[in-house]
Amino acid sequence: MLKLENVTKVFKVGTLGGRSVTAVDAVSFDVRPGEVVSLIGESGSGKSTIGRMILGLSRPTSGSITVDDVPVRPGKDYYRSVQGVFQDPFSCYNPVFKADRVFRLIRETYYPAAGEAEWTERVRSAVRDVRLNPDEVLGKYPHQLSGGQLQRMLIARALLLDLRLLVADEITSMLDASTRIDVLNLLAELKLRGLGVLYVTHDLSLGNYLAERTVVLRGGSVVEMGPTADVFGDPLHPYTRQLLAAVPRLHAPWEDAAPVESCLYHERGATGGLVEAEPGHFVACARLRDC
Ligand code: ADP
Ligand code: MG
Repeated sequence: MLKLENVTKVFKVGTLGGRSVTAVDAVSFDVRPGEVVSLIGESGSGKSTIGRMILGLSRPTSGSITVDDVPVRPGKDYYRSVQGVFQDPFSCYNPVFKADRVFRLIRETYYPAAGEAEWTERVRSAVRDVRLNPDEVLGKYPHQLSGGQLQRMLIARALLLDLRLLVADEITSMLDASTRIDVLNLLAELKLRGLGVLYVTHDLSLGNYLAERTVVLRGGSVVEMGPTADVFGDPLHPYTRQLLAAVPRLHAPWEDAAPVESCLYHERGATGGLVEAEPGHFVACARLRDC
């Protein structure tokens, strides 16, 4: 459904755009219907830039992004099927207006002919779908609701559309542990409905276990990707090992990432790109661009 092919984004920075930063470097991966793909990397690795390009908020410098074989084209039709939810739910609400205004804006844009009673029921049903009580959250101002409630209302808003793909960028990082689990359970339900979810995160949190596949990003490039169980259970790239070693775990001993002496995959044909180490499990040359 979502397909990125060789997507690169170069930002011109500095006075007169004299310097450039390659935020995303030849990234390719896909997200299938009913699948959560987690996009992991430290801060600055290019995750949000990828999310913004998928949402049409920024254009790739080169490469292609398609949803159901159609290139990203920001506009009413595209946003009917592709939506984003971001880290800070408060920024999506105007504190002056009641929080349900986000639903009214959807009605004005997409369902101007909907009758009042019909629309109210649709909103209440979408709110129930995200495990909120409509009587508790509708008619309230943003400051009267918790971050988790606001976040779930944004997901409810997306559910009012014929959504195919949700880009969730660090959506759980501002939530407390119990709310985080609620939001993750919600993502699990979305995938059962056949939605594709790109779950963007900088930490190896619980959310990753929801993901069928994991893409590890470093400095704008994919260093490893594959089925989550393989990437987490048998990490091949030193960077992935380092990420995993940095997470205190109950069931595994602490391990330091071994320094990279030589490229593990160079002889196997990875010339700066990715090599398929086992079916569906891809890894970059361990020394990246030095080979
Ligand atoms: P992440 O979400 O993984 O933390 P980002 O995608 O936000 O990373 O940023 C990736 C890199 O691109 C960073 O070096 C960041 O400074 C740079 N970058 C992001 N947006 C812009 C922009 N609008 N102009 C210039 N540089 C940017
Ligand atoms: Mg980000």
